[in-house]
Amino acid sequence: MAACPLALAASTKPTFSTERLSAEVKALSSDAFEGRGPATPAETKTIDYVVAQMKAAGLQPGGDLKEGKRAWTQAVPLRRSEIVGTPALTLSHDGKISVLTQGEQISVRAPMDGSTSVAIADAPLVFVGYGVKAPERRWDDFKGVDLHGKIAVVLINDPDFETGKGDFGGKAMTYYGRWTYKYEEAARQGALGMLVIHETAPASYGWATVKNSNTNTMFDIVRDNPAAVHPELEGWIQRDLAVQMFKRAGLDFDTLKKQAQTRAFKPVTLKGESFSASFKVDSSVITSHNIVGRIEGSKRPDETVMYSAHWDHLGVGAPDAKGDRIYNGAVDNATGTAALIEMGRAFAQGPRPERSVVFLNVTAEEKGLLGSEYYSANPLYPLATTAGVLNVDALDPHGPARNFNISGSAKLGLLDDLIADAKTYGMVYSADPKPEAGHFFRSDHFSFAKRGVPAISFGSGNDWVDGDLAAGRAAEDDYNTKRYHQPADEWQASWTFTGMARDLQLLYTVGNDLANSRAWPNWSADSEFRGTRDKTAAERK
Ligand SMILES: [Zn+2]
Repeated sequence: MAACPLALAASTKPTFSTERLSAEVKALSSDAFEGRGPATPAETKTIDYVVAQMKAAGLQPGGDLKEGKRAWTQAVPLRRSEIVGTPALTLSHDGKISVLTQGEQISVRAPMDGSTSVAIADAPLVFVGYGVKAPERRWDDFKGVDLHGKIAVVLINDPDFETGKGDFGGKAMTYYGRWTYKYEEAARQGALGMLVIHETAPASYGWATVKNSNTNTMFDIVRDNPAAVHPELEGWIQRDLAVQMFKRAGLDFDTLKKQAQTRAFKPVTLKGESFSASFKVDSSVITSHNIVGRIEGSKRPDETVMYSAHWDHLGVGAPDAKGDRIYNGAVDNATGTAALIEMGRAFAQGPRPERSVVFLNVTAEEKGLLGSEYYSANPLYPLATTAGVLNVDALDPHGPARNFNISGSAKLGLLDDLIADAKTYGMVYSADPKPEAGHFFRSDHFSFAKRGVPAISFGSGNDWVDGDLAAGRAAEDDYNTKRYHQPADEWQASWTFTGMARDLQLLYTVGNDLANSRAWPNWSADSEFRGTRDKTAAERK
């Protein structure tokens, strides 16, 4: 044994301190950190704290290069835009005007294409089915229709959500079903705007969510050509309004929806119907920051294994019933930030890995995965040689579970590794019970996945060693109803952090094995991300 101390060290699993995890979550979620809103004084405080912890843990700075030296942060310029006052929105049918109320029948987002005002007069409306163009699935809802100067009207989710059988994962949502994809495709098709028809089942959330997340201040990363991914007008309409609009144009909504579930579907103009919008936009650029710690690999420093978690939360907002206005974000995501710091310590104190390991603490997740989007669009370390990304968001601070999950569903080698290693910890993988909700597209790992990098978000299990599924589900319900995105997401003295400490051992094992191997885990052959990854295969030796 004395002859091979390294092998011994490599097989020894680090232990994670529950005291440190608790102290860090407590500090980050204390009222002094004001809910960690990006580009507020709380950002400076958060960065100072996390950087001091990463330094003490033994990490090196891995951020922006300044005069040949790495900083601890990556500057993230964000465009913030807001509709000034109440937008004037109308539909006209053969000259008869109906006024639409923002937030009621329609929710229009502040434009993200760089417009400082919107003046759309009588734009024609064209129903484009699910708005999907997927050559690898031989599917094209547009069939060459000209959408310039027109508003595309589109269904939410993907073409086989309702039938449950087809080329888009059946009930599970592919990226083609997500509204972000639909807007991007509308921009590629040259449409002036896009209105998504809200239906609760395929969207997986009600109109209140649509209203709350679309009628407030919008943020995006600063892009060279924002109009390439955003049409000027992006919004949602209620299903009832869509049914009326179709009817006035002599069309039946349900019949057209059925047609849209087939390859033969062709875009349909809503005859006699047009849309107008007029409002001013207040737009400015703010700068937030990702925090980046790193350990340089001993043999292949240019290859990277990444752990990520967002540091931001909702800041200070509307008061709850107790008058509390600070959205502390203890679980979401002080837990993930503490996990990142302690993971850094484990790597810094353990045997040096052959590949580099990056600890990326991103900003503006709550504003639409923007810190991770910015990093992926402006990577500090090449994405082609980033072997995998393990993201953590809202870990469970209670005791250990017998299972774990990931956000959404996906098929990739990285998940196979996680499942295999979990067995050695007596843990099993629980698949997403609601793959149609598209959770895979709603966490920071997705910014990497859509660019082909194997990436997943690990989630704590609910089958508790102490109390079984009943106790785990009760805690989930309590969190979802009383704390999630509310001021009551606060640190609790009763939290043991023993489950998190064990989950981090598992995540260390997966990341450390990958950092000491020459393997490049990939997506499954039928994954929508496989093609993108394979394009850079020559860069991976
Ligand atoms: Zn989160």
